[in-house]
Parts: sequence; structure tokens; C-alpha cells
Amino acid sequence: MTVKEKDARYIAGTYARFPVTLVRGSGAELFDDGGRRYIDMGSGIGVNIFGAADPEWTAAVSAQLSTLAHASNLYFTEPCVRVAEKLALKSGMKKVFFANSGAEANECAIKTARKWAAEHKGADHFTVVTLEGGFHGRTLATLAATGQEGLHRDFLPLTPGFVYAPAGDAEALERAVSENKCAAIMIETVQGEGGVLPLGGEFIRAAEDIARRHDILFIVDEVQTGVGRTGKFYSYMHYGVTPDIVTSAKGLGGGLPIGAALFGERTEGVLTPGSHGSTFGGNPAVCAGAEVVLDRLTGEFLAEVTRKGERLAAALRGAAGIRQVTGLGLMLGAETVRPVADILSELRAEGVLALKAHDRLRLLPPLNIPDSLLDEAAEKIAKVCAK
Ligand SMILES: *Cc1c(COP(=O)(O)O)cnc(C)c1O
Repeated sequence: MTVKEKDARYIAGTYARFPVTLVRGSGAELFDDGGRRYIDMGSGIGVNIFGAADPEWTAAVSAQLSTLAHASNLYFTEPCVRVAEKLALKSGMKKVFFANSGAEANECAIKTARKWAAEHKGADHFTVVTLEGGFHGRTLATLAATGQEGLHRDFLPLTPGFVYAPAGDAEALERAVSENKCAAIMIETVQGEGGVLPLGGEFIRAAEDIARRHDILFIVDEVQTGVGRTGKFYSYMHYGVTPDIVTSAKGLGGGLPIGAALFGERTEGVLTPGSHGSTFGGNPAVCAGAEVVLDRLTGEFLAEVTRKGERLAAALRGAAGIRQVTGLGLMLGAETVRPVADILSELRAEGVLALKAHDRLRLLPPLNIPDSLLDEAAEKIAKVCAK
């Protein structure tokens, strides 16, 4: 059987995979089983922030694997403590809970918000207001937090306690908060899966202000936007807001599964022994990789992300067949005239692997992609979109 046939035979049918079998990579270049080379404009889905087989990251993870891969949270281990310290220093947040995915980080954020609200406002204040078109994960609670009806179908009843407000409408958000007994507002700053749609500083600051005036928590889901993707360490830093909880995953591990919920002053003491946990959370091998990621995301590196993002956006903006370019840093979306599925398949034929988000082209290249590859990809994208 071919890989494709075995996949169909043995793997649950949740993924409509692209017809490519990837076998290896080097930086922002990936190679398939026929030796064909592709430029990586997706980083997995915003995960491989230094591309494939980064030497420093690989060495750090390998060294930890051959020392102690796993210990459990019954014991102290050094890598997770170092990563937590570095996350706190970079973000100004106070404490970290480690999980293994974005959904699990958001589950932790939701549980923490409910516990905080039960202790500060009463057990009936459990509602979390999220935004239409948002995406927070695929577990039952994070699916309920995700304001996209199409994803809910077939999985009812949803976990109760979530209300959606239209994205970008501060008055409607305030109404939703006023009409419910709330624990928190939870938003992305740029709706990633929703189509790479930035909510904008005015709305994001209004959302924080509403949370403050109603004395509820302000949670920012940085699973896709975080860890340098938008040109700041976390995207909320573009807007001068201070979340009570930040969730992080995808790029944080640089290629291995990790999730983190970061707590600020109001929430750092909410979780107590026994209230939450994760068998693999803070795994030493995974954290060894995350530490390399954090060490390399310097101010200089982030300025390069901004510069490259502007370079890519400028190359696509105004190109024939592209109606609009959205996003921040190296998280870009393009509304194309032709169907995005056709664009993606023609890009593959040209040797470029990209993503979609709803009906838009989505570009999340490795953050260290060299200009030469970025320009080559931009040229091919413009060419395909213009057809
Ligand atoms: C991908 C994503 C998630 C879910 O992350 P998983 O690791 O797939 O569970 C949650 N929130 C946002 C904003 C995401 O982009």
C-alpha cells in the first residue's frame, strides 16, 4: 500500500491532506518523497518558527532526550522552570501552567477564569464572552468558546457558559458582558483560523476596558499570534493592553507539542494543588526546545520579523488577482480573486506550500526565512494569483 492508501486505511478521517508526503527539511525548505523541493510558507501551522531541522534547536532537544526525556510533574525539572522564567521576563506575566497544545492551554485559561470568578464574584459568574469568527480549539469547552457554528454541528450539546459577540463591535461586546454573569472576555488579536483578520487596536483596547469596568478577566489567545509571529513577542504588546491570562502554543515549542497559560497579577494565585494538571505538561525535552526559541527571540530578531512581513505584504499588495492583504508581521492573509483551493494546488506545483484560513490564503512562514526564499515565494504567489 502507498502512504496515502495506508493513511486512508488506518488513520481517522479528520484531515483532508494535501497530496504531498514530506520526508525532510532544512530551514524554510521542505522535501517530499520524490526529492521535490518546496518553500515552506506555513511552518506546519505556525509551529516550526525556525523552519525544519534547525541545528541549535535540534541539538538542545537531542541533548535533553539523551539525558532525561520525561519526569512527570511529581518532581522538579530544570528546563520547564527556565522556560517559565523566560516567559515571565519577556511578557511581564507572573506564572505559567504548561500543557501540550493550544486547546489545552485555553482549557486551563477557562478553568482559571471560572475559579477566579467563583471566588471573587460568585459561582454563577461563569460565562466567557468570545467573538464570532474566533477559534480557540477543538476540545468540547474550547469548541464551545469558538464562535463558528459550522464547527459546532454534530457535537451538540455544547459546554454551557459561552456567549459570542460580533468581532470588532465594542458596543455589542459590552452588551454581551452586561446581559450575562461573566467571568471573562477571551479574544484573539488577529483571528487566525477566521481568515487572518486583525481586530485593531481600538477594539482590543475597548475589550480590555470593558473587562476592567465590569471587573472580569481579560484573556488573550496568543496560540497563533504569539511567540514573535506578528513582530512582537506577544501580539497584545502592539496595543498597550495587559491581559490577565495569555495562552500560547504553536510556535512556542519550535516544532514539539507545548501549550502554556500565563497568569498576571490577578490570576497568578488562582490555581492550587489538585485544581489542574497535565501528565506531559512541562516535559523536559519539549521545554529544551522552547528555551532555544525564547533565547533567540531578541528585539533584533523581532524587528526582522516586522521587516520581512512588510516586505512580503508589499510584494503581494496590489498584485493582480489579490484583493486585499491582511495581518501583522509574518502572519498574513490574502483575499484572492480565484478560489483559494486552486491557488494552493497551483502553488504546490510551483514548489510553494501555503495555508488557507476560511476562503483566504494564509501565510505563516518560518520567522527566520531568508529574504531570497521569501522573495521567490512572493513572486510565485503573485504569479499564481494573477492567472
Ligand atoms: C491553533 C489554535 C488553537 C488550538 O491549538 P491546538 O494546538 O490545535 O489545540 C487555539 N487557538 C488559536 C488562536 C489557534 O490558532
